[in-house]
Amino acid sequence: MADSDNKNKKIKYFNIYGRVLKNYFKFAPVASVFTLINYIAGGLFPAFTAITLASLFDEAYNIQQGGGNSNNLVFWGLLYLIAYVANNFLIFITELIIELGADKRQVQYRYLMCAKLSRMPLIDFENSNIKDMQQRAEEHLYGGIMDRIVRSSLQLIFLNLLNFITLAIVLAKYSLWFLPLCLVSVLPYSIARLIRGKEFYYIKYKMAKKSRRLGYLWGLFTDRRTVKELRVLGADDYVFEKWTESRDDVQNELWEQNRKDAVSLLLCDALRIIGYGACIVLALVLTLNKTVNVGVFGACIAAFFTLQSATRGMLVLGGELPRELAFAGDYFEYIDLPEELSAEESGGVLYSGLHDKIELRNISFKYPNSEKYAVKNVSFEIHKGEKIAILGENGSGKTTLSKLLLGLFPCEKGEVLYNGKIVKNFDKPSFYKTVSAIAQNFTQYKLPLRENIAMSDINSLNDDEKITGALKSAGLNELLDKAGGLDNELGTAFGGSEISGGQWQKIAIARGLFRESEFIVMDEPTSALDPLIETEILTKFIELAKDKTAIIISHRVGLCRLVDKIAVMKNGEIAEIGKHDELLAQNGEYTRLFTAQEKWYREN
Ligand code: ADP
Repeated sequence: MADSDNKNKKIKYFNIYGRVLKNYFKFAPVASVFTLINYIAGGLFPAFTAITLASLFDEAYNIQQGGGNSNNLVFWGLLYLIAYVANNFLIFITELIIELGADKRQVQYRYLMCAKLSRMPLIDFENSNIKDMQQRAEEHLYGGIMDRIVRSSLQLIFLNLLNFITLAIVLAKYSLWFLPLCLVSVLPYSIARLIRGKEFYYIKYKMAKKSRRLGYLWGLFTDRRTVKELRVLGADDYVFEKWTESRDDVQNELWEQNRKDAVSLLLCDALRIIGYGACIVLALVLTLNKTVNVGVFGACIAAFFTLQSATRGMLVLGGELPRELAFAGDYFEYIDLPEELSAEESGGVLYSGLHDKIELRNISFKYPNSEKYAVKNVSFEIHKGEKIAILGENGSGKTTLSKLLLGLFPCEKGEVLYNGKIVKNFDKPSFYKTVSAIAQNFTQYKLPLRENIAMSDINSLNDDEKITGALKSAGLNELLDKAGGLDNELGTAFGGSEISGGQWQKIAIARGLFRESEFIVMDEPTSALDPLIETEILTKFIELAKDKTAIIISHRVGLCRLVDKIAVMKNGEIAEIGKHDELLAQNGEYTRLFTAQEKWYREN
């Protein structure tokens, strides 16, 4: 699994490269074929140029000397011109095809990430290591890593290597010295790329968390809610400073790496230029010795230059490839994360509804990267049709318990059973069809009112009567009278009309009620409301849910007289369980909470 220091990470380069190629050929068959042809043609072109130019120069020299044949001159000239135009045309077409398909390929790679997100166990969303992995995968993908690997490796194998072999053969004909001269003058590029590439990968790997933090701090400036709060608190300068520090922290390491890179490249370039100078001297010596003629002298220098570039390209690309593959490996590491079991894998137990009871048998749970149990040794039963309140102070484990109850998180110890069957083995769609969950941090959909309600049962999107009924049940008649009615878009994000925080909460409740479920879990969506209004809404809710099994999570005691049973949580454990009067008689945690909050409900 991902850790912050990955120096011992084993990278399976061949496996990654195979997957990169397979995906690329699958997503872009035409671009793949053109890239191959283009690089093969490009690989042969310089040697072809060297031969045709040498003949052309020779013919021109002979004509100048009074001999030669002008037809031959035209022939070599035309041949060179046709090959030049054809090669450039092929480059243009290939670039165009690659460019045009780039967006489409990005979508395909991203689609795989979306598919992963939709099948990932929900507990992974609580894991910061997995968020780091996602950050890396996204960042590399946006940087075009897959295209880069395919192009550079094909370029290395077909263009640079072919260039190298063919030019080496041509030059070796005149003097073998050209070859070691060329290799030695560009070899340091490869070493520099290998060393720097490895360092760069480690830096980028560690950087994922810092980059996420940077994005988060930037988000504080752009989110209209946090912007307001920061202004009022006068903390915007402080957060800006934090963002700047964070940005410098991210950038400094990269800048330092780029600086080292630039220095080593400068040294490599100096050596390459010295090598080129030595080649000119060698060619000159060969010409003065009459080993080669003037035509070949010119072609030799041009061919050496191309050979040097090809060797440099080959060594640079070869040196960079391990780093690039390591980046692509981060993407595949994310894509390979375990997924939630499908119906067949989980045994495919179809859920046919609650006809007996839900049992929590000694369940315990810890969040990833956390030492403390958020829920510890919890056991109790919920019978069909019962209304249960889970009460407790903030942080006592109520929300976590509700997620374990719905099988959204896996229990570390113990089991949750519905009608005697373990929840994690149920076929998920058949199970969730019967459940409605109203979350504490529900979503405010910046969409029309109609969609905000029908999101929980999208098949009834056009059932105006049902939607209106849900709105009225949640006490939202006034929204129906607004311009646009059900089609009035909510929120100002896209020019809709804004509603109050309390109205958004009521909408979340209406959405929960709209879904025809037999089991409702309501996790404090009313917590921001006045206690008396909360009690009023919850009373209405319990009335509406009279035929259903319901769990209401709250840190307030307002609804407790109305429910069948109250489970009081403290530090992840069930401190007390029973009816309102029974618990008061125990004079324990419930009594403490009740006494502390009693004043809020005096009017009752
Ligand atoms: P409640 O709903 O009663 O306010 P929670 O179930 O949200 O309490 O939290 C119970 C405990 O689990 C708290 O100590 C909280 O800090 C911890 N916790 C909640 N979410 C996470 C998380 N994503 N990662 C680690 N710990 C968490």
